[in-house]
Amino acid sequence: MADGVLLRLEVADRVEHLPGQHYVIRLTAEDGYTASRSYSIASAPTDPLVELFVQRLPEGEVSGFLADEVRVGDELEVRGPIGGWFVWDGLRPAVGIGGGSGVVPLVAMLRHAQALGRPDLLRLVVAARSKELLPYADELAAAGANIAFSRAAAAGGRPAGRLNATDLAPLRNSASAVFVCGSAGFATTAERLLADLGVSTASTRYERFGPTG
Ligand SMILES: Cc1cc2nc3c(=O)[nH]c(=O)nc-3n(C[C@H](O)[C@H](O)[C@H](O)COP(=O)(O)OP(=O)(O)OC[C@H]3O[C@@H](n4cnc5c(N)ncnc54)[C@H](O)[C@@H]3O)c2cc1C
Repeated sequence: MADGVLLRLEVADRVEHLPGQHYVIRLTAEDGYTASRSYSIASAPTDPLVELFVQRLPEGEVSGFLADEVRVGDELEVRGPIGGWFVWDGLRPAVGIGGGSGVVPLVAMLRHAQALGRPDLLRLVVAARSKELLPYADELAAAGANIAFSRAAAAGGRPAGRLNATDLAPLRNSASAVFVCGSAGFATTAERLLADLGVSTASTRYERFGPTG
């Protein structure tokens, strides 16, 4: 797994989520100082636990604590599921485009499609610098995701290089809903490539994981 931690949470009075939604985790220090961050759900709605993947960021206040300090059995303060826009109901054909930890909500969509017995409804195009920096890399590869590594060739032969128009070309004229998730820079790149392909902006939804202001 990429540099980070998988959290499998037992949530009391859990409300079933839709793929694409997230939880907010709030940490409270002994002096009362609090810090809250959002984390997308990776699990399918049918999973009895809520799975999150938290990428360990250098100097990251909350991600560092979650990745290095939290132990099995610890209690965390969480709120969710949150989000009504970046969600996939599993009915309409969809395409997920994710960069780095931006693949997490797409993994929930993938697992949902598989649980419904309709993996054909979802196509995935994902990107990272290398396999080591792509969460769920093996699961995504096994599901047939188109994977773009910018620093090393992907298994199966795609040459190393950033996400490009060729990676997204199969989406031309597609009637699918499109979900783009990743850093602000990744989302901007994907937006430009989709515009060049003539993909309708009305059917495209973005989730940006950025630095907290
Ligand atoms: C809707 C939503 C869903 C999200 N889902 C996930 C998820 O599934 N997994 C996940 O790991 N993160 C996810 N994030 C990002 C997450 O909320 C935090 O921003 C991230 O964990 C950093 O928090 P921190 O306290 O560790 O870092 P901070 O202490 O806030 O920042 C530490 C340093 O890292 C930089 N930084 C902050 N955030 C990022 C970032 N996302 N990428 C690169 N550099 C950054 C800051 O500029 C700073 O230099 C999501 C964000 C949103 C808005």
